[in-house]
Amino acid sequence: MANSIVEKMKRVLGRHRVYDDPAIVSLYAREASGLHASELPMAVVFAESASDVSQLLRLAYRYEFKVFPQGTSTSLSGSAVPLDRGVVLSLERMRRVKEISVLDSVAVVEPGLRIDDLNLVLAKHGYMFPVDPASSAVATIGGAINTGAGGMRGAKYGTMRDWVLMLQLVLPDQDGTVMRIGCRTVKCRQGYDLVRLVVGSEGTLGVVTEATLRITPLPEESPTVLAFFSELDDLVEAVKSIKGNAWQPLIMEFLDADTVKIAKQFVNTDIDAEGHMLLVTMDTTRESRRRVMEQLISLLRENNAEKIYKASSLEEAEKKQLLALRKSLFPAQVHYARKHLGGKGRIHVLIEDIAVPPSKLAEAVTELRRIEQEHGFKVLLGGHIGDGNLHPAIGYNIDDPEQVRKVEEWALDVMRLAIKLGGTISAEHGIGVLKKQGLRMELESLGALKALDIMRSIKSIFDPKNILNPGKVV
Ligand SMILES: Cc1cc2nc3c(=O)[nH]c(=O)nc-3n(C[C@H](O)[C@H](O)[C@H](O)COP(=O)(O)OP(=O)(O)OC[C@H]3O[C@@H](n4cnc5c(N)ncnc54)[C@H](O)[C@@H]3O)c2cc1C
Repeated sequence: MANSIVEKMKRVLGRHRVYDDPAIVSLYAREASGLHASELPMAVVFAESASDVSQLLRLAYRYEFKVFPQGTSTSLSGSAVPLDRGVVLSLERMRRVKEISVLDSVAVVEPGLRIDDLNLVLAKHGYMFPVDPASSAVATIGGAINTGAGGMRGAKYGTMRDWVLMLQLVLPDQDGTVMRIGCRTVKCRQGYDLVRLVVGSEGTLGVVTEATLRITPLPEESPTVLAFFSELDDLVEAVKSIKGNAWQPLIMEFLDADTVKIAKQFVNTDIDAEGHMLLVTMDTTRESRRRVMEQLISLLRENNAEKIYKASSLEEAEKKQLLALRKSLFPAQVHYARKHLGGKGRIHVLIEDIAVPPSKLAEAVTELRRIEQEHGFKVLLGGHIGDGNLHPAIGYNIDDPEQVRKVEEWALDVMRLAIKLGGTISAEHGIGVLKKQGLRMELESLGALKALDIMRSIKSIFDPKNILNPGKVV
């Protein structure tokens, strides 16, 4: 059966687009979360156009096999991993920038385009696409749309749902219907908002084959300050003062003191890092840069910041290693776990993705440290303080079933905390398979379990035969 389906795909789509060599297929059977397919998919199909996608989905509908869309598989929630012996649909060959219009403030792109590559092109026009997941060097626009990705600039610029105007979508129906939804204009009323329904739908409703994105001018100047505080409450007060000054920083990132202590062992830097860390980048005009920087520093001092480092731009901040500690969260956790867990087996890092209202940050950190003690794992803790998105991360031995079980329990407690504080279990990484229980808990706490039924009904309207990325989200 599998062989005949692969042969049909090769005949319809061309041999150069369909690969069933297990050595190649296995590369597409895993994702960054560490999850991998229990059974190898039949093949990987490299689509080069919406028409290729449409033909594949028509075949899938007719012969009833599953299709798993993929960008570059950097998903951290289990959303990109094929769970069934279906076909992986890679969009990585569709990576053209089709149009940039400064007048309309849009970029029209294909889904396999990497976010950093889009920004390289936009920079020539003085523009940027502001959603910046830390994986932007490899993450694709299609993947970011489907996870509803965010990043360090989230407090100012929001997430993907704020930047997608229009989509070309291919449906997993009898005809492999290709349709456009949304408008090229920012103002748009088109009945129910299907664009926002697809953003964050994790490849379960349709395949995105083109996106019209909003773009925004590059900041003129980006003065950056790194500060350390002995008391977490002082750091939170500093954030309050920054916001109270009617400022909306471009970046406002945080690491707690325990994490700083561990992270600095793995970063080669002259920075005297001690205490809770706050990193702030403002976007200013050329004329106001100096004034804003001075005001920001005096405001941090008023709130008892003990050590302050500054750079006149983000580029200079990179050179001075001001971002290095924040960026070291993931590798530091791997090194730490390798050193302290010992034994044989592969070390894996689970990064949680809760968001709490920023006013609850100090409480969240205290509680996360209490939960850490209860479970006996070392947690590294950082996040986007401007929008309350925290990433507690744990390193563990993925080959030790007891550790895996304990980590799962820890993750559930972290999600329970987010819900208790009026937050959410997933701010930007999505639900995939790892957060399905968390989603249920969150909806239950809102008295909204019915929403799960509504979501399942929506899925079956888009995808009556449950072809696309089955088993994810709901
Ligand atoms: C080191 C690291 C740092 C990260 N930092 C961040 C961060 O700061 N913020 C953040 O939000 N995320 C972050 N992530 C998570 C992830 O990188 C992002 O969600 C990213 O946008 C996913 O893009 P991708 O191309 O890898 O998509 P994939 O992982 O390949 O796919 C993600 C989902 O989208 C679906 N999909 C992909 N393309 C299409 C398409 N064309 N049509 C329909 N469905 C499609 C897939 O089926 C899957 O459900 C990080 C991951 C890593 C490994």
